[in-house]
Amino acid sequence: MAACIFCKIIKGDIPSFTLFESERVFAFLDIQPLSQGHALVVPKAHGSKLTDIPDDQLEEILPVAKKLAKATGSENYNILQNNGRLAHQEVDHVHFHMIPKPNQQEGLG
Ligand code: 5GP
Ligand code: ZN
Repeated sequence: MAACIFCKIIKGDIPSFTLFESERVFAFLDIQPLSQGHALVVPKAHGSKLTDIPDDQLEEILPVAKKLAKATGSENYNILQNNGRLAHQEVDHVHFHMIPKPNQQEGLG
């Protein structure tokens, strides 16, 4: 979708720190991270809400979120997906947040 900021990121028209790319999935660092390593995992197919995306376009999303969670080395993390303004969705292209919680012994959390 031409006006969509995440479609532009997927196409490479807007730069991002890319973490993973496959035929159906794109993952990149959040521009305003809630913690170090805060990533967004998105289907390449455009859709505003989870219910707009065909099941086959979603199959790879959680496995990618898992890989990223492991890569951070954090034992504590949230996977979050907002749908609609009242649910705090700001960007209308389905995205899954992977938000690591820094390990306490590092003194960051
Ligand atoms: P939402 O509130 O819609 O679930 O989250 C949207 C997320 O997208 C926010 O965490 C925000 O920081 C991130 N975001 C918005 N615009 C950009 C952008 O241009 N680049 C990147 N990397 N992240 C963005
Ligand atoms: Zn889009």
